[in-house]
Amino acid sequence: MIIDRPLVPVSSKAVRRVLGGHPWVFSGEIERIPSGLEPGSLVHAVDLRGRVLGTYLYSSVSDIALRRIGEANQTLSETDLEWRMRKANDLRQRWLPGTSAYRVVHAESDALPGLVVDRYGDCLSVQLLCQAMDRLKDGMVVGLVRIFSPSAIVLRNDAPQRRLEGLPEAVEIAHGETDGLVPFKEGEATLLADLRKGQKTGAFLDQRDNHLALARYAGDKALDLFSYTGGFGIHLARKGASVTAVDSSSPALGHARQVAAMNGVADRYETVEANAFDFLRSAVSEGRVYDTVIIDPPPMARSRSEVEGARRGIKDLVLMSLRLMKYGGTLVLCSCSHHLGSSMLMDEVEAASIDVSKRILLLEQRGQPADHPILVGFPQSRYLTCLIFQVL
Ligand code: SAH
Repeated sequence: MIIDRPLVPVSSKAVRRVLGGHPWVFSGEIERIPSGLEPGSLVHAVDLRGRVLGTYLYSSVSDIALRRIGEANQTLSETDLEWRMRKANDLRQRWLPGTSAYRVVHAESDALPGLVVDRYGDCLSVQLLCQAMDRLKDGMVVGLVRIFSPSAIVLRNDAPQRRLEGLPEAVEIAHGETDGLVPFKEGEATLLADLRKGQKTGAFLDQRDNHLALARYAGDKALDLFSYTGGFGIHLARKGASVTAVDSSSPALGHARQVAAMNGVADRYETVEANAFDFLRSAVSEGRVYDTVIIDPPPMARSRSEVEGARRGIKDLVLMSLRLMKYGGTLVLCSCSHHLGSSMLMDEVEAASIDVSKRILLLEQRGQPADHPILVGFPQSRYLTCLIFQVL
């Protein structure tokens, strides 16, 4: 028996994709919207013969019109939501035992599209990124309180994706109290998340394993470009390296200095507020030398049309970085754009290596950690690349 709810017919192209595991139907693939369909409703997507494909969340203004939450007849009552979030958290307990800062819910990968829940110790930072999730806000907060008894829940509804859904942008403390600054452990290091004003949900939990991996290659002098609050560099400083952290955000660097002090490495940690490209240009002209250079820029290609420009930017960053390195140096190159993946990064490193006549070895080809899992059949969920090279 199929429960009575709005039926949304979708094109055969969309049917082929969703049968392959892809969770989205685009607005151009909708054949007909039932009249009076409320933004954020639960609907059944159907093929052109009326066969039900599954339960979807409807967005009235976004290019992503339908997001899949499961088979036919799924519901998202307060109890259902709590069950889905509990299940996602149980998996993290299995995958990352003992980790106190992790992504509890990773949207589509946890069959909760448009929902991101990050846990920093006993505080939660949440993003509601589609109309349906926004409508479910109160039930979500109730569920999270039941599961975690958190001291605070911050809703980071200032993410730009909300604009595409026609939703207002605001930060709200939905439960408890916090000034937003929450220290958390990453391996042996202590980092700091700014839940109210920091970027994303407060920190970049997706780089956790990459931070720890790089620490194994620590040299004497490190340049952490796009450092944010210190992620990569702090781990290196804890291994004895002297670190120069470069970022264009003054608040981020303020927190980075606080983090350095908390880890007892303030004496070998300096911050420079600058555009990374400008910093590199002057470092090259001054003939500076580093054992480790980290390049971890913000998303450079949010769409396919931005890829060419992004590649030129990456090539420049790599080329200038290589000029600062001698034999045995470690270069880290990251991309958090799905459109700019590892083979394109490799091409740009190859082009730069020819320009500087250096042999380069790829030591590690890394991605995102288990708490940000990639959903098979949904390439957009594979977004983070981190390559670790040795420069010869
Ligand atoms: N490496 C960090 C995450 C970096 S996020 C970590 O592992 O935690 C990207 C950072 O780049 C942000 O902190 C942002 O403020 C900074 N940024 C953006 N554009 C920049 C530019 N042109 N020059 C320097 N920093 C920039």
